Amino acid sequence: MIGDPWSFLVHQEAFFGVRRFDDFQRNLNVARNTLTDRLALLVRHGLLKKDVYLTRPQRYEYRLTQRGLDTYPYALALTQWGDQWLSGTDGPPIMLRHITCGKPLVPLGICGSCRRRVHPEDVLINPTSLKGPAPTKDSSLRYSSRPELYTAGRQTSVGRTLAAVGDRWGFFLLWLALAGISKFDHFHRILGIARTTLTARLERLTHEGFLERTLYQSRPARYGYHLTEKGRAFTPVLLTLFEWGKGGPGADAGDVSVLHKACGDPLQIQMVCEHCKEIVDPRDVKVIERPLGQPAKEAR
Ligand SMILES: [Zn+2]
Ligand SMILES: [Zn+2]
Repeated sequence: MIGDPWSFLVHQEAFFGVRRFDDFQRNLNVARNTLTDRLALLVRHGLLKKDVYLTRPQRYEYRLTQRGLDTYPYALALTQWGDQWLSGTDGPPIMLRHITCGKPLVPLGICGSCRRRVHPEDVLINPTSLKGPAPTKDSSLRYSSRPELYTAGRQTSVGRTLAAVGDRWGFFLLWLALAGISKFDHFHRILGIARTTLTARLERLTHEGFLERTLYQSRPARYGYHLTEKGRAFTPVLLTLFEWGKGGPGADAGDVSVLHKACGDPLQIQMVCEHCKEIVDPRDVKVIERPLGQPAKEAR
């Protein structure tokens, strides 16, 4: 629902307060038919709602629904990871301030039950829950597999992080790696994708520094893939996405396939402010964009 680059870019613009077709079109410099497709898709999936704001001529605007807003913890986790691992010497493209406590916002993933910080080694994923993607019902939709598109819109750590993961296969592989899967054949058996596709995705994640490849058998040569420190730091992203998925149609809201070893309860991650430990609500966050080479511009 939210993995395709154009859908992501449209959804991200909505978070920045964009509501009208022409504004989406201008900000994203996207073909009008592609934009029409993605807006309809996001409405169909319940992330945006379409309202009439002018009757003669008939004009519509698009607003985030609660389901759309519920992706916020996931966006915060992507932001935090991108700020930490992809900012380089320029620093993050966007600064966040937590209005609640007045401090710069550093999002932190905690267990909703014991309220302790979630460490990857404390995450227990039931191996019987592991499976590949459900067949998509949207046969009309052609997913783009050009990772660079994620950064075609305004510069955010969210877009940069998605570009590093590449596509939904990247997400599936990182989830399986977090669950402890390491062997090529095991990944292959669960995901059921072509071996060449799997090889390319594993190479990409290794190149981007999420995974490291180790030889575990020499004759014939067999390799295992394990999360690096950078890959383990991705855990809150995977867990917030998992949490959001549980709220979707056909999902089991009482899903207990992920446990927090530190307390033994089903793991429901929450993104809080590292400073005041309050759950972060998007209405309590001030966004300060820093376009390259221009002075910082404050926006809500
Ligand atoms: Zn816990
Ligand atoms: Zn705070």
